[in-house]
Amino acid sequence: MTTYDIALVPGDGVGGEVVAAGREVLDAVARTSDADIGFAWTTYDWGSGYFAEHGRMMPEDGLDLLAPHDAIYFGAVGSAQVPDHVSLWGLRLRICQGLDQWANVRPVRFLPNVPTPLRTTGADLDWVVVRENSEGEYAGLGGRNLSGRGPGNEVAVQTSLFTEKGCERIMRYAFELARTRPRRRLTSVTKSNAQQYGMVLWDEVFTRLRADYPDVETDSCLVDAMAARFVLRPASLDVIVASNLNADILSDLGSAMAGSLGLAASANLDPERRHPSMFEPVHGSAPDIAGLGVANPVGAIESGALMLEHLGQDADAARLRRAVDAAAAAGVLTPDLGGTASTADVVRAVLDHL
Ligand code: ATP
Ligand code: MG
Repeated sequence: MTTYDIALVPGDGVGGEVVAAGREVLDAVARTSDADIGFAWTTYDWGSGYFAEHGRMMPEDGLDLLAPHDAIYFGAVGSAQVPDHVSLWGLRLRICQGLDQWANVRPVRFLPNVPTPLRTTGADLDWVVVRENSEGEYAGLGGRNLSGRGPGNEVAVQTSLFTEKGCERIMRYAFELARTRPRRRLTSVTKSNAQQYGMVLWDEVFTRLRADYPDVETDSCLVDAMAARFVLRPASLDVIVASNLNADILSDLGSAMAGSLGLAASANLDPERRHPSMFEPVHGSAPDIAGLGVANPVGAIESGALMLEHLGQDADAARLRRAVDAAAAAGVLTPDLGGTASTADVVRAVLDHL
């Protein structure tokens, strides 16, 4: 038997509820698999609760604790008790950047029978947002109080960092991914008319790389036009590659178009596999519904499917997605999708269809 050693980081708010749901489903996948697999889970109770006790979101040696695991399964971070930028940088971004998870892959899958705000059913739509996950607008460069002139005159600077190597590696990742998909289409997104240094470099690297992938159809789009295109011409999109901030915004838009933020899955990958990769739903801690037992677990469950693929278990990942589709088709939907099912009801329906 192959036992995968998974670090479980539930985090804050609905994070704990959806990763518990995902864990239950993944254990059932292992039990019913043709491959002889199992999961060993180690829980790390890091997040805003840990912060209240220790004054930090995770221990100083937290990355060393995560390093030996085969993968990390993460919930969400954020609470009213800790400023959002402190909690995000103290846990999620610390893991992503500390473990070189430079590719954030966020598929947007439309499920059967799930109402969407679009005029189409979504049946012909299937996107993957590939997000640069190590630099760009999230480089963490800048500072406060730079004017030296006291209250009312503060100046703050936030710098984006774009390196040729960073652009090239995320774009090659996206080109290779586009190549494996039926439509073989890749759209690069920037705001390079206004961001005239880093994003112009991004455009130049994209233009150079296109020659290496003649089998992939490409185009470039400004992020404002892209927001409109997502809504008005959704079928024109397949794989989308964008910088850290732009891709974050577009993937929330994409998942809302599929019906709910609660549906979206993501993988934070170290494609060179020197460190464990991390799998998490795109949504945050959702404090407005935390503790009510109604959080949509599909984003977390589908993140589990991405984790199965990363571990080499493609057949089980496909089987899990079919079970999620079947549960949705049977009308077992949480309130964010207009249904009345609880988190536990969705888990039960997915287990039934496994
Ligand atoms: P973050 O800053 O961590 O990205 P956010 O500000 O984007 O968080 P979320 O916590 O993702 O906010 O919540 C945004 C909205 O989406 C809330 O109304 C929340 O209830 C809803 N939502 C998020 N996740 C889910 C879920 N799993 N099921 C149902 N609704 C959800
Ligand atoms: Mg968000």
